[in-house]
Amino acid sequence: MGATYDTIRDKIARGALPRSTYTSASMGHGLSAPCDGCDEAVVPADTEVTVEFPGGSALRFHLDCFGAWRVASSAVVAPSEPMTTTPRRVLPRREE
Ligand SMILES: [Zn+2]
Repeated sequence: MGATYDTIRDKIARGALPRSTYTSASMGHGLSAPCDGCDEAVVPADTEVTVEFPGGSALRFHLDCFGAWRVASSAVVAPSEPMTTTPRRVLPRREE
């Protein structure tokens, strides 16, 4: 995973893409409309994944972008989730 994964992870972090709580996902041929993950067109030769969410909204992904989104959305820690490790705060030593 490279640039596409990073793009999608960034979109999730910024709130431009939701995390992967969806009601259904269906696959079909692309309709040449832009992918919500990488912003490239999903051409008919590509497999398009349509993801539906509670409330009726939907997103369109390339098959690879769908996979990247699922991985990235579980990798982005939401503010409400407990941190597993607390970074130690390192204070600068005062020079007397
Ligand atoms: Zn894509």
